[in-house]
Amino acid sequence: MLERDESKLDNVIICNIAEIQLQFQKIELFKRILMYSVTQLQVQAFVDGVGASIAMLERDENKLDNVIACNNFFSQMFGGVSRLTETTPFMLKDLIPRYNRMEFMDQVNQCFTEQIPLEFQQAFDSKNGTRWWRISLKPILDEQEKSYRLLITGQDISSKIELEHKLKITSSRFASVIEAAYDCIITINQREKIVLFNKAAQELFGYNEGEMLGQSIEVLIPEQYRDGHAAYVDKFAHSPIKSRQMEERNRVFGQHKDGSQFPVEIAISKINVGGMVEFTAIVRDISDKVRLMDHLAKQASTDPLTGLLNRREFEEQGKIMFALARKNKEPLSILMLDIDKFKDINDNYGHDVGDEVLQLLSRVGSMTVRHLDVFIRLGGEEFVILMPDTYKEQGLAMAERVRKIFETQSFEHNWNGEPIPFTVSIGVAIMSEDDSSVDQMLKRADEALYDAKDGGRNRVAFGEG
Ligand code: GH3
Ligand code: MG
Ligand code: MG
Repeated sequence: MLERDESKLDNVIICNIAEIQLQFQKIELFKRILMYSVTQLQVQAFVDGVGASIAMLERDENKLDNVIACNNFFSQMFGGVSRLTETTPFMLKDLIPRYNRMEFMDQVNQCFTEQIPLEFQQAFDSKNGTRWWRISLKPILDEQEKSYRLLITGQDISSKIELEHKLKITSSRFASVIEAAYDCIITINQREKIVLFNKAAQELFGYNEGEMLGQSIEVLIPEQYRDGHAAYVDKFAHSPIKSRQMEERNRVFGQHKDGSQFPVEIAISKINVGGMVEFTAIVRDISDKVRLMDHLAKQASTDPLTGLLNRREFEEQGKIMFALARKNKEPLSILMLDIDKFKDINDNYGHDVGDEVLQLLSRVGSMTVRHLDVFIRLGGEEFVILMPDTYKEQGLAMAERVRKIFETQSFEHNWNGEPIPFTVSIGVAIMSEDDSSVDQMLKRADEALYDAKDGGRNRVAFGEG
C-alpha cells in the first residue's frame, strides 16, 4: 500500500499480502473502514487495489454471513466470475461451489466463534483447471472486542503446490528406481559416511538401512583392503574424472555382516550435492561370474578324466619352471611315464577299467611326488612330472620309487574283484647348459622312455644331455 504524504513523498506502508492483516490495524485507512466511516465505494476501491483475493465479511443479526466488499480475485478464486459479486452485499455461501462450501463455512464459523485468525488451503476448479488457494480469515474486533466482521484474503499458491507435486513425483520416482534396482546403490559423503543404502545393498551385505546410515563405508570392505580406501576416495575426489570402474585389473571384494567375503564389480561416480562432494557406488555381486570364470579356467587347464593338469598347462608351467631354474641356477628334472602294454589292459578288461587305471595312477602318482612337483597328464597313458630344484640322482630316485609303487601295487585300491597288475616305464632327463626350452628336456626324457621300453619295460632310463 502506497501513501502520498503532505510533502508529496510516496511511502510504502504495507508491502506484502501476508502482512496486510497486521498492518491494517496501523493505518488510518483501515481504521476508517472499521469505523464504517468510509463509503461502500471507498472500500470497494481499496479491495480492488490489492493483488490477492480479498473480501470483507459481515455477520448480520440473523447470523447470515454477507460479503460487503470484495475484489475481482475473490470471485475468481471460487472458479469463475459470478454475477453475484456485481452488487454487494451478497451471501458468502452462495458464491462458494457446493463441493467445498461446508468446509469453507465451517472455518468461517470457527473464526467468528473463537475470534482468532485462521488459515487453510482449498482447491477450486476453474476454466483453466484446478487452482490452489491459501485462505486467511482474520476477525476484526470492534471497541467491545467483539467481532462481527472478518477479513478474508486468498493467495493463489497453485504454482507452489504444482512445484511441490512435481518435486514429490521426481523424488518418489528416484526413490523407486533406487529401491527397485537390481544392483546395490551406496552413497557416501566425503567423510566416507553412508548416506544412501538401497534394498539390494541391504540384501547383499546383510545390514538394514538403519544400521548403515551414518556408518563408515569401511565395514563393507574386508579388513585387508581398508587401508588404501580413504586415500583412494580422496584421490578420486580431487581428480577431474567423474565416474570410473574401480580397480579394473584386480578383483574387489565386499564383506557381509557375517564376515564372509565375495567378489564384486564396482562403478563409482562423483556428484556435487549442495557444494559437497558425494560418491555413489553401484555394486554388483559377481560371485557367479567369478565361479564360472574359475571353472572355465580350470577346465581349460585340467584333464577331465584324472583332474591332473593337461598338456596346455605343461607348456605354461614348463616355461615358468624352466625360466626360474635358469634364473636361480637351480637344477630341474623331468620324468616321462608311460603305462606298459596299456592296450592289453583295455583289451582284456574293457575301456572303463582302463580309465580306472589312469585315474588310480594319477591319484597315487600325485600323492607320491613332492609338494612342489607338477604332475601332468600329457595325453593317453603318458604322464610328465616336472621336479624343480632336483638333481639327476634325486630325479632317478623318484622315478624308481614311482615305478616300484605300481609294480608292487603298494597303494590302496578298490578294484572291482581281482587286482589289475600293471607296470610303468619312466624316462628321466635333467636340464643341461645347452637347453633353451623345457621341450628339449622332454625330448630327451621321451628318448629315455623309449630305451626303457626297449630294455624290457617296467624300468627307469636316463636320457643323457
Ligand atoms: P607300450 O608298453 O609300448 O606303451 O604299449 P601300450 O599298449 O601301452 O601302447 P600303445 O600306445 O600301443 O597303446 C596305448 C593305448 O592307450 C591305446 C589307447 O586306446 C589307450 N588309451 C589312450 N587314452 C586312453 C584313455 O583315456 N582311456 C583308456 N581306457 N585308454 C586309453
Ligand atoms: Mg604310450
Ligand atoms: Mg604304453
